[in-house]
Amino acid sequence: MIKRNLISLFLVGLMSWILVGCTVVPETGRKQLIMVSAQEEAQMGLAAFQQIKQEEQISTNVMAIDRVDRVGRRIAASVGRSLPDAKWEFVVFESDDLNAFALPGGKVGVYTGLLKLAESDDELAAVMGHEIAHVSSRHSAERMSQQMVAGLTAAGAEVYMESQDVDHKNRAIARAALGVGTSVGVMLPFSRLHESEADVIGLKFAAGAGYDPRAAATFWEKMKAASKSEGRPPEFLSTHPSPDNRIARLKQIAPELLPVYREAKAKFEEMEMEPVADREIGANPGN
Ligand SMILES: [Zn+2]
Repeated sequence: MIKRNLISLFLVGLMSWILVGCTVVPETGRKQLIMVSAQEEAQMGLAAFQQIKQEEQISTNVMAIDRVDRVGRRIAASVGRSLPDAKWEFVVFESDDLNAFALPGGKVGVYTGLLKLAESDDELAAVMGHEIAHVSSRHSAERMSQQMVAGLTAAGAEVYMESQDVDHKNRAIARAALGVGTSVGVMLPFSRLHESEADVIGLKFAAGAGYDPRAAATFWEKMKAASKSEGRPPEFLSTHPSPDNRIARLKQIAPELLPVYREAKAKFEEMEMEPVADREIGANPGN
């Protein structure tokens, strides 16, 4: 009787927790399960970012820093809603790696190798839009929550097996079948669903920031070519699925966003014609 009550209590607790954790990605209307607070998520992102900054060489190339900062800030503004606990920071890392990332809390890194490949700001915006879309859609928190549910399912199974007096051998088989991993972190590769969602939302962000949405397909074509010539996929591609399907899809959705892009571009061009007072970055150009 006590055991049965224990199971009921566990299930009621699990269900209420899951119900509390249901949120929606505003841009797509997709429901997601999130059981990590934005604050906790941002703290983990910040910790990971600090570690990367210690391990990698931070670029002092003013042109590169200015470019990533300018494109990044326009995209962050194009998200159109303030993200909880996001303190945007854009850092360029000196490395030939074709890599870029955005972490919860608004911490964004772009490698100089990728900057060379993404020749136009439009192409850079495609990558940064995609990465920032992972953050605004809280994909890391969703992955962590999925891991937590998997852990809870395992715990539930233990409670059940205890109540049923399952022998040791069968318990071991059940645990293996559940295959619950223990690795939880913000740098896990994203699922296909997250990737295609970040593609769609990222393209919207880039277009809304005045960057040509057609550049996403050309960028991924270059990534595909670069991975062939290197003989191994760049790090960025190892956490991102094969570019073939996404190129086709990006080509399909880009034309719908052209009016948004043209309107935003005209707005930014108008702003650039106005005299700029004191620029935030006061270093000498061309260094
Ligand atoms: Zn991605």
